[in-house]
Amino acid sequence: MAGLSPALLAGHIPALPPAAAGIVTIEPGRPCLLSRIDPDADGGLDKDEAKAALSVERARIQGLQERLYGEGKRSLLVVFQAIDTGGKDGTIRSVLEGVNPQGCRVWSFKVPSTEELDHDFLWRYHKRTPGRGMIGVFNRSHYEDVLVVRVKDLVPEEVWRARYGLINDFERLLTASGTTVLKFFLHISKDEQKERLESRIADPEKHWKFDPADLVERRSWDAYQAAFDDALTRCSTPYAPWHVVPANRKWFRNLIVARTIADTLEAMNPQFPAAAEGIAGLTVPD
Ligand code: AMP
Ligand code: MG
Repeated sequence: MAGLSPALLAGHIPALPPAAAGIVTIEPGRPCLLSRIDPDADGGLDKDEAKAALSVERARIQGLQERLYGEGKRSLLVVFQAIDTGGKDGTIRSVLEGVNPQGCRVWSFKVPSTEELDHDFLWRYHKRTPGRGMIGVFNRSHYEDVLVVRVKDLVPEEVWRARYGLINDFERLLTASGTTVLKFFLHISKDEQKERLESRIADPEKHWKFDPADLVERRSWDAYQAAFDDALTRCSTPYAPWHVVPANRKWFRNLIVARTIADTLEAMNPQFPAAAEGIAGLTVPD
């Protein structure tokens, strides 16, 4: 455990800053009702203002990521969940633009392999959590095991029901070990999903993104919303709360996610290690 401060070893969990204005953070212990959250919200901004503000946030993330890497003691895990076409890929591409790829890893989780299914459900996710100094991004995550698994009835109810508590324990372990966990749910409306699917069908350049299975999943829209409500209610904790991002407007979504990541890194306050004595003024021999 070299490199961890006594506070981290004692399981101290750092205070998290509030999410950017426009995001609805689910208060631990209070029910999440997605139907009450407006996916169209845009904070009264227009697209150009939001784009200019986004470049500022990206620059903050880039600078703070370098410090996190230089410090090499803690890490940040950013989790994205959404319904199909909700914008996980687009948000990751936009928000992490310009971040040093050496300090950041993105993992996308698909249908589990037989080897993964032969282990406990958290095994494949735990292996991918970020090491010290790193930013890790989960495009889908351990929450799939209480979302698609529940909606499609892939395991008995008592099995998925037990997982909410196990997920909270897992995230507690991560945060107590120096990994800050930031969870974003990208919230789009059913009409917006229809438009996005139609635009994938209409544009041959987007055909590769169109998955006919998404049309089948769309029939289970209400069951997914209920599963999201439950997961966000049961797994919003003081150490790893859920953030609901109005995501019908991509430019607003990108801005508030980027701002929240930047604010979180800033609150972590990573520090470059102190320089060794006597470096300043050294001369390099010919
Ligand atoms: P995509 O992200 O669109 O490439 O699709 C990945 C697919 O994998 C989605 O349909 C997910 O629902 C599915 N998936 C991800 N994790 C799991 C899991 N733990 N169990 C079953 N299906 C999963
Ligand atoms: Mg898909």
